[in-house]
Amino acid sequence: MTELVNEPIELGRGSVLRCKGWRQEGLLRMLENTLTNGEKPQQLIIYGGSGRVARDWSCYRRIVEILKNLSEDETLLVQSGKPVAVLRTSAAAPRVLIANTNLVGKWANWDHYRELERRGLMMYGQYTAGTWAYIGTQGILQGTYETFAACGRRFGGQGLKGRILVTAGLGGMGGAQPLAVKMAGGVCIAIEIDPARIDRRIATGYCDVKAASLEDAKRLAEEAATRGEALGIGVVGHAATSLEELLKLGLSPAAVTDQTSAHDPLNGYIPDGYDVAEAIEFRGRNPNGYIDASMAAMARHMRVLLAFKAQGATIFEYGNNLRGHAKEAGVENAFDMQGFVPLYIRDSFSAGRGPFRWVCLSGDADDLRATDEAARRTFPNDEQLNTWFDIAQTSVPIQGLPSRTCWLGLGERDKFGLILNDMVRTGKLKGPVAMSRDHLDTGSVAQPTRETEGMLDGSDAVADWPLLNALTNAVCGADLVTIHQGGGSGMGGSISAGMTIIADGSTGAADRIARCLYADPAIGVVRHADAGYPIALDTIRHKGVRAPMLQE
Ligand code: NAD
Repeated sequence: MTELVNEPIELGRGSVLRCKGWRQEGLLRMLENTLTNGEKPQQLIIYGGSGRVARDWSCYRRIVEILKNLSEDETLLVQSGKPVAVLRTSAAAPRVLIANTNLVGKWANWDHYRELERRGLMMYGQYTAGTWAYIGTQGILQGTYETFAACGRRFGGQGLKGRILVTAGLGGMGGAQPLAVKMAGGVCIAIEIDPARIDRRIATGYCDVKAASLEDAKRLAEEAATRGEALGIGVVGHAATSLEELLKLGLSPAAVTDQTSAHDPLNGYIPDGYDVAEAIEFRGRNPNGYIDASMAAMARHMRVLLAFKAQGATIFEYGNNLRGHAKEAGVENAFDMQGFVPLYIRDSFSAGRGPFRWVCLSGDADDLRATDEAARRTFPNDEQLNTWFDIAQTSVPIQGLPSRTCWLGLGERDKFGLILNDMVRTGKLKGPVAMSRDHLDTGSVAQPTRETEGMLDGSDAVADWPLLNALTNAVCGADLVTIHQGGGSGMGGSISAGMTIIADGSTGAADRIARCLYADPAIGVVRHADAGYPIALDTIRHKGVRAPMLQE
């Protein structure tokens, strides 16, 4: 158990450097920003059950100290959240290399991992937590909006407008759901076991109201849908039992999904019959009993989702391995529910398009406005992107350092990255900019129940691609490169890579940005072309990607 620390977290802003250069300072601010925006910062927990930024507080403090003293030709190595070495490398090399939660295949199970964690040998890195690139709920907001908008388009007409989507889980990632449904025009009922999480989402503008009961939630939702109004409703309850109740009450949602932490049956998902405090007590007293109860609850949860499908609702898994665990717990047809990537996201990935993001290291909201406007000027014809900016600039609150997530494709990220670097060089911004992305991206992850589910050639579990991605980003000179195992679908569920690069306005940064931000999505296009996706093969031809065997 990590020591609880209540001291305020330092978050660097402004132009004063605490490190020997902006590359190190930028990464330090990304680390601090990740922790500041985390769900349980006192425990170093950022999101996704137990996704952490560092192994424990002494490791965190030591990483900070090392970054402050790191030279321009040195690289810090971090092993599952613990700084293990500082090596002499070169100015063109990354300043930080991280490997989190990687276990040899046969040993990549929760029992073995937990024993290692108990002995202080590993931590769970999730995706952007261990990559120090978490920017709060916004990070997932655009992706969630893209998914719900695509889901709505399948209904024809006005998409989700006048329709109800039901989900559960208002945590670090799931908290984006009510606002994302609203952006897509619909009404969201979000079931959450922890009342404090609903309050937090309401306080930060991600949810509108807390319903007093399930009946109240149903009434509010139906009234808003009838009026064609968008609304985000939170309601306290257990996902499985509340869905059963809503089904009994006769609710007819257009779509049902879920973002409880089902990937982790011990530290994430809460079994039915327990509130948050009771679950903590149960978990501590009898972990194995807890896991059994959690798995049984997931089976119950899955069955009610399938019942909604039988009555005509669209259901999809939102990347938390609910199906996998439900199947293990005896629901043979759990995979009758498809995942959201093959349904709604794969075309974007095939074109090398995915969740690029940037963080204004000055901490100044004016820098965010200037970079938003630069993005609009650079991509004036991208309707989807401009719709997102309209919404983001009015509805997305700033959390920590001002940042923006924005789906960009091959050829767009390097172009825009160079524009940002130039804005820093010419003093149009008050400070440098860090550019990063989610691990859920076109060429940086193998996760057979999510990003690579149902690949055309059956290569779902092939993890060579994210490893090539990390190696390529390292040789191209990204400032931070990570390799993770586990991620959103839990232990043994994925291998992925993260990267961050700092635009400090220098020519060195321009060279590295041009290389990294082209190569990173290019690997994604090649990965999808290799699997036979026509959009990816076209992108290779039209954008001149050199992939000899795919061009014959
Ligand atoms: P989190 O741990 O921050 O939040 C999970 C929330 O679910 C908590 O608020 C918790 O109180 C609630 N909860 C747990 N069990 C519940 C139950 N039985 N009924 C009702 N509420 C319950 O996690 P997060 O960061 O929001 O991520 C949620 C899940 O989504 C994780 O499994 C994560 O791996 C996955 N995920 C998906 C994507 C994606 O792209 N779709 C991205 C990141 C994470």
